[in-house]
Amino acid sequence: MIPDDAQVDEFGNPIRPSTEVQGYQVPFGWTAKNVGSCRSCGASIMWTLTPSKRPAPIDPDGRSHFATCPQADTWRKGTGR
Ligand SMILES: [Zn+2]
Repeated sequence: MIPDDAQVDEFGNPIRPSTEVQGYQVPFGWTAKNVGSCRSCGASIMWTLTPSKRPAPIDPDGRSHFATCPQADTWRKGTGR
């Protein structure tokens, strides 16, 4: 069942209610861990655990930093300089 007010983001993923933790919009069902900074671009992020218990960094607006990081290409390559 899809609520009447269901919305999707630009990727077609459903937007769920979020909880604000230390100024970060933590998506519903995700677990806030610790605030830190991105090793690639230096942005302020919060580390969270997804519902499947995978670590994921988010931006203050709750979007995955994997999606917004300007250095995301270096993450995918995983060369670990
Ligand atoms: Zn980054």
